Amino acid sequence: MVLIVDDNQNNIYSLKKLLESNDFEVDTAISGEQALGKALKNNYSLIILDVQMPDMDGFEVAETLAGYSKTKEIPIVFLSAVSTEKRFITKGYKSGGIDYVTKPIDPEILLLKVKTFYNLQENNLAMKRTQQNLELEVKGRRESQATMKSQIDHFHLMLQALPQIAFTLNQNGEVDFVNCKWYLYSESEQDFPETHPDDHDIKKEFEECRKRGKAMELEVRIKNIKTQLYRYHLLRMSPVFEGDLIKNWVGTFTDIDDQKKVEKEKDEFLSIASHELKTPLTSIKAYTQLLERKLKLNNENSELLYVEKTLDQIEKLNSLITDLLDVSKIENGKLKINKKPENLESVLQSAIETILHTSGNNVKIERHGVKPDFLIPFDKIRIEQVLINFLSNAIKYSPDNNQIFVTTFADEKEVRISVTDFGIGIPDFKQEYVFQKFYRVEESSLQFQGMGIGLYICSEIIKQHHGTIGVSSEPGEGSTFYFTLPLN
Ligand code: ADP
Repeated sequence: MVLIVDDNQNNIYSLKKLLESNDFEVDTAISGEQALGKALKNNYSLIILDVQMPDMDGFEVAETLAGYSKTKEIPIVFLSAVSTEKRFITKGYKSGGIDYVTKPIDPEILLLKVKTFYNLQENNLAMKRTQQNLELEVKGRRESQATMKSQIDHFHLMLQALPQIAFTLNQNGEVDFVNCKWYLYSESEQDFPETHPDDHDIKKEFEECRKRGKAMELEVRIKNIKTQLYRYHLLRMSPVFEGDLIKNWVGTFTDIDDQKKVEKEKDEFLSIASHELKTPLTSIKAYTQLLERKLKLNNENSELLYVEKTLDQIEKLNSLITDLLDVSKIENGKLKINKKPENLESVLQSAIETILHTSGNNVKIERHGVKPDFLIPFDKIRIEQVLINFLSNAIKYSPDNNQIFVTTFADEKEVRISVTDFGIGIPDFKQEYVFQKFYRVEESSLQFQGMGIGLYICSEIIKQHHGTIGVSSEPGEGSTFYFTLPLN
């Protein structure tokens, strides 16, 4: 907007008309004081200022405008009728004017000047706005950079305080931060610790995970620089995402060497103990069976009862020891599976018969689904072991219900057998653990006897058959344990 300041209404009128007919927005003031008030309130791109005015002349107005930050940049064109002398013109420029036009004015020339100065000022203001925006952006960026830096520092400080070896990698997979524990196992920041020749190559494994954008977990032995000894560590590397993209990676090595040693010693003990127990137990069983036969021949019924009870307990002890031996076989990779084409239905029937025979008549097993009366490749003894385990657990963990459903299902890919009971059930968040070694659900572990290895052995057997195993359960309602076997 252009402000015209003149004490002569006629001058204002003709100038206003001229500018408005050329699409300028125009405001007017008839005195210096009024002009100052308006200039401080509104935004003008140009002021056309008459020099000769009563009270406050144009020069004074210009000097006052120059004193305010809001108005000091507004270009001023002086209009003067008399003061054409050089000193007046000089004064006009000194007091802040950018041009000095004398009356009578040439409308065309004045219009050209107004257009030029107006555009100049508009450009000037636009540039200033851009500059201000830029400054704001730079400030914002500096601030967010500073916050980011302090966050990174804080994060690094946390990594330093960890008892593990901790490090970060950039999106290209290059190490860009390591905590002080790193140097116990590596000479330089860039090099991963040296791994045992028999273990996985960290870089190679990581490259695979990086390509897939997935976290990795690895047990490796790494060499301590001082002792030159290898220690087992659990290496974890996780991607940090920014939106869909991986920004960087965070990794830790946790020393699990002591834990590994204890686990190994425990496995060795279990293996030796179960082997050593098995031999005398086999002899005890054989002699007791001989005794049983003899008592049967002599019709000595009261003693026979005791011997039969002894044989029952021997059988229980035998199966516990066999389970322990199986665990140590799994640990040593020696659990052998002999797959042969077998009829699954007859194995299932045999397992149900065994269970009914050992648990008495009070258990009711109901069959559902299509019977798997066909040949598929599997290890008969091991699959029967899984079925017996499912069925005996179903009985054991259902003290107030004797009903069991066995459901079979087959499609073109696999066959599925599930055992459902209506017993105590398993809490949701504990279901995934029941297939782990020595895991027992705490709530029921005191009430029911067991070692927590049956389902672990079952899952290993099914794994070796390339099948799947699982459970769905509701506490207080019951559980369904199932496994699948591929048809070929
Ligand atoms: P064990 O029965 O000797 O403890 P398992 O490996 O067979 O060992 O089972 C592991 C745990 O899973 C059990 O201790 C029990 O807590 C839970 N579990 C297994 N089967 C059932 C079931 N049918 N109902 C409820 N809980 C079960």
